[in-house]
Amino acid sequence: MAEFDLIARILARAGVRADVALGIGDDGALLVPPAGQQLVAVCDTLNAGVHFLPDADPADIGWKSLAVNLSDLAAMGATPSWALLSLSLPQADADFVERFMQGFSALADESQIALVGGDTTHGSLSVGVTALGFVPAGMAMTRGGARPGDAVYVSGTLGDAAAALRLQQSVDGAAGVSPALLARLNRPTPRVTLGQALRGVANAAIDISDGLLADLAHVARASGVGIELQAGALPISKALSALASATQRVRWQATGGDDYELAFTLPPERVPALEGLGVTCIGRVVAGEGVRLRDGTGESVVFEQAGWEHFTGATQ
Ligand code: ADP
Ligand code: MG
Repeated sequence: MAEFDLIARILARAGVRADVALGIGDDGALLVPPAGQQLVAVCDTLNAGVHFLPDADPADIGWKSLAVNLSDLAAMGATPSWALLSLSLPQADADFVERFMQGFSALADESQIALVGGDTTHGSLSVGVTALGFVPAGMAMTRGGARPGDAVYVSGTLGDAAAALRLQQSVDGAAGVSPALLARLNRPTPRVTLGQALRGVANAAIDISDGLLADLAHVARASGVGIELQAGALPISKALSALASATQRVRWQATGGDDYELAFTLPPERVPALEGLGVTCIGRVVAGEGVRLRDGTGESVVFEQAGWEHFTGATQ
């Protein structure tokens, strides 16, 4: 199986869009962005043994490699359009590529993304995706717009993926983890529609990939504000609320990675715009700095780790 045959299998699932003047097959893709829009470009890599277990289902790896990028686009308020895929493979494994593209294209088709190019090389298993999207000029959300007095919201529920990963690594393996939790780890749902709905509503937004506290610390720093959160307000799934101790659950919710939910801030007068969006108020923006999580009695809840960070081994 040569590189060319692998690329042919990828091409078969690349998807089509009218704004792709030239897709896979030449030295570069020719893309036609709509007038009046800004391009949003994001890039995230998944490495075997770091971001996924070496024996993970290739279809899950395909889905997640795109999902983590769509989550970044969602946090910017962008409408996804195109992706590029850099695949490093230990061997020219057609089955792996087929399964991988099944997962990748399931999400790409659902999100109306066309795969327009990439690179296929020999090396240890690694998947890099670059995704592009549009936002009306000047309308992108950033981490820097939070203001004292804003309410802090989060989408969906928190901690499921972290709990699934931890339970999967314990005695029973994946078989011992509820399918609802495993799906949150292996097939995260990027909040693309929500991100677009928040344009012009949220003052600041971020997607939660490394842990709520760690990611909101980026918002606090970029905005020059402090953030106060209520532990009891953090949204929790049914599956997670049946597990472990209350302390452990809050730890997963506040510091576990891989949620791919959106956290955002907005002035209280815009809260009615959130009706029906499946989001939960978890705190408020204050003058000052840093992120504080408080329990029901107002005491600070402190964890030794706020979230995941590469190179330093996790402590932030
Ligand atoms: P070049 O040598 O000019 O970089 P390649 O032979 O690597 O070209 O790639 C041929 C075509 O296939 C290009 O259009 C490239 O974007 C596309 N391609 C290669 N690998 C991938 C991949 N993993 N996913 C999507 N497109 C790919
Ligand atoms: Mg070339």
